Amino acid sequence: MRRVLPGLLAMVAVLGCSDLLPPPGVDPYEYRREIPIEGGVFRVAFHWPRQMLPLKIWIADTDPLRPMLTRAIALWQTVFVYGEFRAELVTEPEAADIVVRNTVAPSLNRASLRLESLARQCTGATDYVVDTERAEIVLPLEVYAWSRIGPTGEGLEECYEITVLHELGHALGILNHSLDSRDLMFGDPTVNGFSEQDRATALAATHHPSNVVPVRR
Ligand SMILES: [Zn+2]
Repeated sequence: MRRVLPGLLAMVAVLGCSDLLPPPGVDPYEYRREIPIEGGVFRVAFHWPRQMLPLKIWIADTDPLRPMLTRAIALWQTVFVYGEFRAELVTEPEAADIVVRNTVAPSLNRASLRLESLARQCTGATDYVVDTERAEIVLPLEVYAWSRIGPTGEGLEECYEITVLHELGHALGILNHSLDSRDLMFGDPTVNGFSEQDRATALAATHHPSNVVPVRR
């Protein structure tokens, strides 16, 4: 028994949440979204429940963003070495947790919140609805990315790569923007990959409690 116990303790230590948090010296930025409510603010903290993984993401077969989305899913999965984020593409939008479209985001209805990114050649948006009274986030989350320079043009493909990677970061629970232009989650993103702060923030969002539950209505 004395031989087994240290092994068990080591296993607990390996799986402990504090070990999954970023290394010291890398500070996450604010990933929660503040929503004004009567008498104060509701600070939305969200990550996907483990039992919903792999997430179901829908994009049309012919959508030009499809390769960028496949890449973005693969890259975000590398940040979560314990499989806290996994996703797969599905064929039916009705069944999806996240839908992605290469179209201009529609006018925002009153209930929706939008996070917008403004790279030079293209724009991205992630729309979602939070019901603060019921502490729910309503599925699906809707991601859009569209060109600002016409259907083709120099830099558009990379802009789509950056923007889809960025918007998927929002859909994973980073419901805010970094104030540092070296981060993928900066409001006008220019880096095509993650900084240490982006990784730390994604892990923080995933390993701290959610205060909204995803629901389909
Ligand atoms: Zn954004």
